[in-house]
Amino acid sequence: MARTALVTGGTRGIGAAISRGLKAAGFQVAANYAGNDEKAAAFKAETGIEVFKFDVGDHDACAAGIKAVEEALGPVDVLVNNAGITRDGWFHKMDAAQWSAVIRTNLDSMFFVTRPVIDGMRARGFGRIVNISSINGQKGQIGQVNYSAAKAGVIGFTKALALENARKGITVNCICPGYIDTDMVAAVPEKVLEGIIATIPAGRLGKAEEIASMVAYLASEDAAFVTGAVMTVNGGQYIAN
Ligand code: NDP
Repeated sequence: MARTALVTGGTRGIGAAISRGLKAAGFQVAANYAGNDEKAAAFKAETGIEVFKFDVGDHDACAAGIKAVEEALGPVDVLVNNAGITRDGWFHKMDAAQWSAVIRTNLDSMFFVTRPVIDGMRARGFGRIVNISSINGQKGQIGQVNYSAAKAGVIGFTKALALENARKGITVNCICPGYIDTDMVAAVPEKVLEGIIATIPAGRLGKAEEIASMVAYLASEDAAFVTGAVMTVNGGQYIAN
């Protein structure tokens, strides 16, 4: 029977490409989303992928949402923690709501979504967890103190969880995308975006599919010896290792 993969924020942008890529690789896919019902319904109609609405920043909603996924599709063997948001602004102008929204959605979610599936993965002796961090968690970014802090946290979370579970057949890795052509980047003012593209050696934005193919590799049986890794996919914009 096909293994089940859960992709948070899996109905739009990078997550949608990940959901499609995992389906093409033979997984049964559950795509989570937050509130955009119309987009989720269109995605489900187009791909046949089941969609599950819950807020990854809410502990109880995650517990209930993952129960619903497992009842519908079976235990989660592959988890892609992809959902994320930005609430940009200079730190000296940032309010507590901007800070908390980003930390809960991008970092608290790592605990809320992963905790309910880890026991099953350990018991079955198999799991693949892929966390989506960001280039800006590696290098920092003006206007994104909240987001850079959360995404750097994702890297630490990945490494520690990888160590704890390496003997249980579970790999835990993260991907740091550079600037990828999605709604999130469309929100960046055009002039700022032109400046960003000028700093990308590849001379263009990345495509969501270029992140999805890395996820499909990390989710595969072939990637069993890759764990605790930070995969940089950024067109050469920041060469960290
Ligand atoms: P999008 O804004 O295009 O899509 C975000 C997805 O996450 C949507 O499906 C959205 O659901 C979902 N989502 C948002 N908040 C929640 C929540 N609280 N609970 C559940 N689902 C939620 O984002 P991208 O595809 O651009 O980004 C995906 C990931 O990649 C994020 O973690 C982002 O930080 C990271 N990233 C993106 C980069 C880029 O250049 N685009 C660069 C580096 C990292 P709904 O449709 O219901 O709103």
